[in-house]
Amino acid sequence: MSITNSEVSQKLYIETYGCQMNVSDSEVVASVLKDKGYIITEDINEADVILVNTCSIRENAEQRIWGRLDVFKQIKKKKPELTIGVIGCMAERLKEKLLEEEKTVDIVVGPDAYRDLPHLLETAETGQRGVNVILSKEETYGDISPVRLDKNRISAFVSIMRGCNNMCSYCIVPYVRGAERSRNPESILKEIEDLFNTGYKEVTLIGQNVDSYIWESEKENLPAGKQGETMKFAQLLEKTAKINPQLRIRFSTSHPKDMSDDVLYTMAMYSNICNYIHLPAQSGSTKVLTEMKRGYTREYYIDRINAIKRILPDSAISSDIMTGFPGETEEDHQETLSLMEFVNYDFSYMFKYSERPKTYAARHLKDDISEGTKSRRLTEIINLQTKLSEKSKKADLGRVFEVLVEGISKKSSEHFFGRNSQNKVVVFPKNNYNIGDYVFVEITECTSATLIGVLVK
Ligand code: SF4
Repeated sequence: MSITNSEVSQKLYIETYGCQMNVSDSEVVASVLKDKGYIITEDINEADVILVNTCSIRENAEQRIWGRLDVFKQIKKKKPELTIGVIGCMAERLKEKLLEEEKTVDIVVGPDAYRDLPHLLETAETGQRGVNVILSKEETYGDISPVRLDKNRISAFVSIMRGCNNMCSYCIVPYVRGAERSRNPESILKEIEDLFNTGYKEVTLIGQNVDSYIWESEKENLPAGKQGETMKFAQLLEKTAKINPQLRIRFSTSHPKDMSDDVLYTMAMYSNICNYIHLPAQSGSTKVLTEMKRGYTREYYIDRINAIKRILPDSAISSDIMTGFPGETEEDHQETLSLMEFVNYDFSYMFKYSERPKTYAARHLKDDISEGTKSRRLTEIINLQTKLSEKSKKADLGRVFEVLVEGISKKSSEHFFGRNSQNKVVVFPKNNYNIGDYVFVEITECTSATLIGVLVK
């Protein structure tokens, strides 16, 4: 029996955890189900279906979901016909076990199986619980127009590829998101044009490792003598920048071993490609990087940083730093601190190593750094980064930046906030401007997190 639009007018509530890919996936899920007549609601109490899009990157990310499932269980006690679904990376990691451990969960769906959601929800309504955690080598959801769930309608994520082939020894992503596959550039550019034509002013191209984006056009249907086209990330970036100079382009996440100078020169050529790169180092020690199977050395990473500073001198750089990896010595830790000082990061995401099941590290490397040492090292890294962020903001005092207005400041309804090209948050008086406008702000003060300024013509 197939489902028609008129048959399903159930209220769907989606709760999203984790990375930008999950935010983008929830918009794909919303689109797949909206097409079947589901109505998106932001009120959990009026939901007929609750889907929680989960993250598995660290243990505490999963702990949070178990906590949410307890809350959903209470809601279901009052509303037994409620359908609860766990989707995303934790669903992919735990599979059927989630159904065994949590009786209130009706369906478990992995990141590559969202097209199957209407069918799984239909069977769940008959009381049959369902699982689909098949990973795909082809699936990119390229033909699905995401339903935007963001509030400001100014900035959107656009997924350009899925999965990851890097197999860093600590990382669960390849196991829960599968092998790398790049999306057809035509569908990416179409999605971005549609976004711009509906008022969006900024897109962030996302993928686990955008630098390994590669699209080869089919060879079989080409006219005689015509070569297949290969498009790499630098070319895709250029085509995106050419859509409209009023459209800002950002991208994440880069990988040091794959980031080419082509990408940097393309950024330098187009002023609407933002002057910001997120380049996760994870560690400053070549010994630890080798154990992490990151595929580069400290020296190679520094070479990439020097290339960024040479080709894009006014760019901001952020990183991911992990502390307490198995076997990390005090010297290794000092190398991480000295690398941070050398790069002078504007910002970093900083974590303690969290052993993830099935990863190479979990199978072969003893989690031998004590919790106390991990915490002490993380504190030192955070304190250093706070100093570096402050220094980076102080260097902006007196400078004028073009800022995209994104919303009303949390601290004052008379002020807007937005980000400059370097991805730094700027707060300034609203005057008669609107969300979505580009304004010029002279920086007059700063905190370690925010730039504050006045509007200039
Ligand atoms: S590049 Fe490494 S850390 Fe990043 S998603 Fe891939 S395997 Fe994980």
